[in-house]
Order: sequence, then C-alpha cells, then structure tokens
Amino acid sequence: MDPTICAACKYLRRKCPQDCILAPYFPSSNPQRFACVHKIFGASNVTKMLQQVPGHLRAEAAECISYEATARVQDPVYGCVGIITQLQQQITQIHSEIMKIKGEMVAHRSAHPQHLPSPQPQGEPSWFSSTHRQEQDNFQSDKHLSGNF
Ligand SMILES: [Zn+2]
Repeated sequence: MDPTICAACKYLRRKCPQDCILAPYFPSSNPQRFACVHKIFGASNVTKMLQQVPGHLRAEAAECISYEATARVQDPVYGCVGIITQLQQQITQIHSEIMKIKGEMVAHRSAHPQHLPSPQPQGEPSWFSSTHRQEQDNFQSDKHLSGNF
C-alpha cells in the first residue's frame, strides 16, 4: 500500500497529483470507502460535487457522500431512507410506550392518591413533541423526494 497514492487514484489506476481533490478524503488506508462511492456516484461525479463545495465544507461533504454510498451499497433499494425509516419506527414505538406508561401512572395515581406526591404537569416535554413533529415533517418530505428517484 503506497500512502502517497490516494485510494481514489489507486482504484482508478492513475497517478495521484499533488493537488488531488480526492486525496484528503479518500486515504489509501481505506480503499473500501472510495470503492463504495465510485460504485454509487462515479468518480467524476464525486470530483464535480466536491469542486462545487467550498474547501472548508469538503470534508463534511465527502463524509455525507461516503455515508450515502455505503448505505446504498448495503441496501440498494432504500439506502439511507431505510435507516431513517427504522429510526422513525423506533421513535413511534418509544413514543407509544411513553404514552402507555403515562396512562398507567395516571391510573395508579388516581387509585392511590394518598401514597404519591402531587402529580407533575401532564403532557410530553416540549422539546420532545416539537422535535418529534419536526422529524416527522422532514421524513414526509424525504419520502416525497425519494418517490422521484
Ligand atoms: Zn488522488
């Protein structure tokens, strides 16, 4: 493994120029990362995408490209949306568990009012409901976008 040749140039069997735009984000130590990205997006598209991004944001862009490519290789049909769907289902499931437990607490309190401290204000914490709702909105728009694939 030659550390002076980045994973991209090695994969493409070309000389790695000193100003190679891919070299900082696709080191020779991780050839699989570029292989995934190349398979999904194509090397020239990745180069174009990185060129369009200001230098200080390229590492993050490369990270996103790599994450999306890896997810798409693992799940060719849904890619990242598959992961988002799973997490969304977990949120929904946990939310309904919270609601169920809150209902049980209310029932327990009314059955044994003398044993418990005065009830706390009801309802879910505001951070939870607003974040949860926003995530659902984002998820809806993601689904809408993915329909156009
Ligand atoms: Zn290179």
